[in-house]
Amino acid sequence: MKSRRVFLQKASLSALAISIPSIAALSAKNNLTESILKEDKILRVAIMGLGSYGTRVAEAMQDSKRAKLVGVISGTPSKVETWKAKYGIPAENCYNYENFDDIKNNPSIDAVYVITPNALHKEQSIRVAKAGKHVICEKPMAINAKDGQEMVDACKAAGVKLLIGYRMHFEANTLEAIRMRKSGELGELKFFQGLSGFVIGDPTQWRLNPALSGGGAMMDIGIYSINGARYMLGEEPIWVTAQETKTDPVKFKDGIDETIQFQMGFPSGAVASCLSTYAMNGLDKFFLNGSKGWVEMQPSTGYGPINGKTNKGPLELPHVTHQTVQMDEMAAIIFDGKVPEVPVNGEEGVRDMKIIDAIFKAVKTGKKVMLS
Ligand code: NDP
Repeated sequence: MKSRRVFLQKASLSALAISIPSIAALSAKNNLTESILKEDKILRVAIMGLGSYGTRVAEAMQDSKRAKLVGVISGTPSKVETWKAKYGIPAENCYNYENFDDIKNNPSIDAVYVITPNALHKEQSIRVAKAGKHVICEKPMAINAKDGQEMVDACKAAGVKLLIGYRMHFEANTLEAIRMRKSGELGELKFFQGLSGFVIGDPTQWRLNPALSGGGAMMDIGIYSINGARYMLGEEPIWVTAQETKTDPVKFKDGIDETIQFQMGFPSGAVASCLSTYAMNGLDKFFLNGSKGWVEMQPSTGYGPINGKTNKGPLELPHVTHQTVQMDEMAAIIFDGKVPEVPVNGEEGVRDMKIIDAIFKAVKTGKKVMLS
């Protein structure tokens, strides 16, 4: 199996493109099982935005069994040259932000992974969808729920999948905590705490420019507590309250939240109490409390290993690079219609965006905001 994988990874792009139908033909002849066929389907991915996270995803994809980096979309020609050499990307699979609509004429790319500043995701994802390619888009999927919904609609209209880069949805210890909750081992869930934050550096970066980020810590890191509350409790919130503190209004200008504390109420009566901040280091903790047990994860959403303990003992499932697992799973979602334990589709992204919209409204009005 390993040598077959290595062979597939080494095979040239054109050979890969040809190998899929030829295996299908072989299957009909030799009665190969469908699962073998599926295993051979490699998701050929172009990364858009060759920045810090794009680089991490590219590295992780080298170990993926089912996803292969085959193209790039970048505004920086020098990076394109480096990536071409490093990953063996052919010139015809390299695009910039002006010409990437031409990807529609490129049969050797299946999906584009959008890893650019938040405010660019919507337009870029919609262009990718219109080019007929599947879209994988980083979190936050957009800068508000309306834009997120437009992305969902555009992908649906184009008949392509839209997946959001929620890598924690595939992390083994996280899934074990979710299993415990679903099995009833934790009893009735009453409380979730999520702490998400770090001290942000360079004041000139796009994350501190509202036109590119759409917000501050909440869009970037607070979203992990929102998303985590939802998958740990297994419910959708019905209300939010939120309070903002700003200690540095120069660095964190209008439209860039520094620290927000927020609370969410759930239909069962469970509540979540969360902190999102760009002004405190080392905040990466989830705590879930039920009538029969509890789960604590710290770190809970970093690149790993995730450190989890429960009333029954530690969570000890082995660490695997999150982005490698994510890409394998996303290939299975796209090609095999696999349904993940926790969704990563566009609708899931919109749910988080609606909550972020409500939190910003609650900060502004000082009132409890109901979610429909
Ligand atoms: P970086 O600034 O490191 O990279 C962003 C890249 O986007 C740039 O290098 C550039 O690539 C491209 N880009 C296009 N237009 C612009 C522009 N106007 N200004 C700046 N860059 C531009 O950011 P990150 O990689 O850290 O973040 C990118 C996205 O990934 C964000 O949405 C972020 O939330 C998400 N992310 C997700 C993580 C996760 O764990 N899921 C972790 C970190 C980030 P080029 O030069 O090739 O055009």
